[in-house]
Amino acid sequence: MRIDILTLFPQMIESFMNESILGRAQKGGFAQIVLHDIRDYTTDKHHKADDYSFGGSAGLVMKVEPIYRLITKLKSEREYDEVIYTSPDGETFNQPMANSLSLLNNVIILCGHYKGVDHRIREHLITKEVSIGDYVLTGGELAAAVMTDSIVRLIPGVLTDEQSALSDSFQDNLLAPPVYTRPREFNGWSVPDVLLSGNQALIDQWQMDQAMERTLALRPDLLK
Ligand code: SAH
Repeated sequence: MRIDILTLFPQMIESFMNESILGRAQKGGFAQIVLHDIRDYTTDKHHKADDYSFGGSAGLVMKVEPIYRLITKLKSEREYDEVIYTSPDGETFNQPMANSLSLLNNVIILCGHYKGVDHRIREHLITKEVSIGDYVLTGGELAAAVMTDSIVRLIPGVLTDEQSALSDSFQDNLLAPPVYTRPREFNGWSVPDVLLSGNQALIDQWQMDQAMERTLALRPDLLK
């Protein structure tokens, strides 16, 4: 899968994309994450990518031309399944959306900044608008990072044990059961006996019961 991220501040997310599981996914050839600096697609001598908004309301608006040039160039090189704009008024991102996006081949994520992008971009170039929650960020970079992280770890082969993505919270609308590691006893705090019993059927049952109990207690809405 290839994800092209369009931003005025590529450095904000560059190192994040190359660490841990995202870094490994790229080295292993499972995902290609390409950052593009929108400013590189300006043509005036001051490299102006934003301007005052018509109508006089406060704040800068990202200009249409550089973003149009960049998206048009990318589309001439390959076919994109979605051109996503990160926006607080978009559809709220969640695990089912991450699952379906992880099945796509080529996706563009456009990060807004300041007051957002010229609305004509949203009207004519964007196919999907996504919010990561009901709060306002300085820019779409963190939203793009959040989405890319949760999408890429779902691509088969990215996690060493594929099961570990399937048993995460929200898959099957259940929260994950508690996990423990060595030592068996710390400070008088012990690990549940069943996990040390060696009886896999009992362990599976315990984990399922715990997942159900935690979901009922913490997120009953998921079970509806
Ligand atoms: N004026 C806009 C907010 C601009 S915030 C409004 O009121 O809707 C600047 C940019 O940050 C946005 O263009 C968007 O790309 C990004 N952003 C802010 N909050 C976000 C959120 N919750 N989810 C996704 N992107 C967000």
